[in-house]
Amino acid sequence: MRYYDKLIFECSKPGRTGYSLSGEWKDASLGLDASLLRADAPLLPQVSEVDVVRHYTNLSQMNFGVDTGFYPLGSCTMKYNPKINEELAALPAFQGLHPLQDPATVKGACAVLEWTDRLLAEITGMKHFTFKPCAGAHGELTGLMILREYHLSRGDLARTKIIVPDSAHGTNPASAAVCGLEIVEVKSNAAGLVDVEDLKPLLGPDIAGIMMTNPNTLGLFEKDIKQIAALVHGCGGLLYYDGANMNPLLGAVRPGDMGFDIMHLNLHKTFSTPHGGGGPGSGPVGVAERLVPFLGVNTSGFHGNFGVIVRSLAYILMLGKQNVRLAGRLATLNANYIKECLRDAYKLPIDSVCKHEFVFDGLIDDGAREGKAGATTLDVAKRLLDFGFHAPTIYFPLLFHQALMIEPTETESLETLDEFVAVMHKIAREAAEDPDILHAAPHNAPISRPDETTAARNPILKIQDEN
Ligand SMILES: *Cc1c(COP(=O)(O)O)cnc(C)c1O
Repeated sequence: MRYYDKLIFECSKPGRTGYSLSGEWKDASLGLDASLLRADAPLLPQVSEVDVVRHYTNLSQMNFGVDTGFYPLGSCTMKYNPKINEELAALPAFQGLHPLQDPATVKGACAVLEWTDRLLAEITGMKHFTFKPCAGAHGELTGLMILREYHLSRGDLARTKIIVPDSAHGTNPASAAVCGLEIVEVKSNAAGLVDVEDLKPLLGPDIAGIMMTNPNTLGLFEKDIKQIAALVHGCGGLLYYDGANMNPLLGAVRPGDMGFDIMHLNLHKTFSTPHGGGGPGSGPVGVAERLVPFLGVNTSGFHGNFGVIVRSLAYILMLGKQNVRLAGRLATLNANYIKECLRDAYKLPIDSVCKHEFVFDGLIDDGAREGKAGATTLDVAKRLLDFGFHAPTIYFPLLFHQALMIEPTETESLETLDEFVAVMHKIAREAAEDPDILHAAPHNAPISRPDETTAARNPILKIQDEN
């Protein structure tokens, strides 16, 4: 029997219990007032202790995480999270903090914030950070509000537009729209970089700034960033840096030195906090010196997800300057290694040295023959699950129809990378010979191919009433 085939409620048998209390305890009201006691027993499943243990242990083992296997998701850095981070974040003095506590009693926590601020400022070239935002997207909105406030404070009311590259992460235009800015798209050129010639005519007195990710979502370093910064500053705009892809740049290049004025970091990506499934995150926003007055005071309570900040500080201190830098370099090396190993079987739309991630555009031979549909990127991703790997990001970025975006991160060994490469080659051979093997994948997973749109839009999260 597979314990996860059933809900715990479906395992229920009337009268079965997971405990046995002797007579005098069984009917005890624990001395509670009768008015506080419920009339009917709660509708809990009636199961034995061992059934409960097996049920939940089996469920927990269905979970795939970076602690159980290789997780080459692109865009959202899913790096290994050192366990010392957890130990430190769980210290009672940190865990028991309350945001309304008397400041005199939280000097240690304030020191954590100040120390992390100093280290992040050094890593990024910004002057100061605020830790209030709880995710990257939250940081984007905060940063854009600072950007808008800067213009308004100077009486510059005409700057209502923000430039966003067509390769941007979806949160960029979304945050800008929430902030009330009008989005102007700038195109990528054939090399996958912001097209400077397309940018020039967009600039003018109505431009509040530009949002950029560097390296961009294709994993490519925007080489023209100095020129772009000069152009945007020249027209009176500011540069916002989406720091989600900071990992490969650690210790090598600083957004502040590239000309960016405002940025966020995704501490849960670059600085190793377990995330996924919605949290917890931290998206601190850093600004250049002249924007510090707009940052908001850092002295009140409510500093976002404090535990994530502690983890990030622990991570940076544990690595130290040399190894923070090495992390960025190894992330870059590992991505280029996989790219070069697999380019004989997967289409590489942009042939360039990448940073921490890169994008394939589907299989070179997808097995499509007369009357037979070829294998798609979705099929490749599903087939990977059969071999114990998490699938990479698929169908993002939107620039390619069969996008398959791979980011191995720095902690993976050569052996793990080679195993992944071997499986990807095997899948490519299967596709060429018989794409139906891929169409029917995954063959070994508890759930094969749910209707993902319905599952996302109308999730059934509770047991269905039989009536
Ligand atoms: C993950 C990501 C974001 C959004 O960050 P969240 O913490 O998920 O809100 C923004 N931009 C890029 C490039 C990202 O990869």
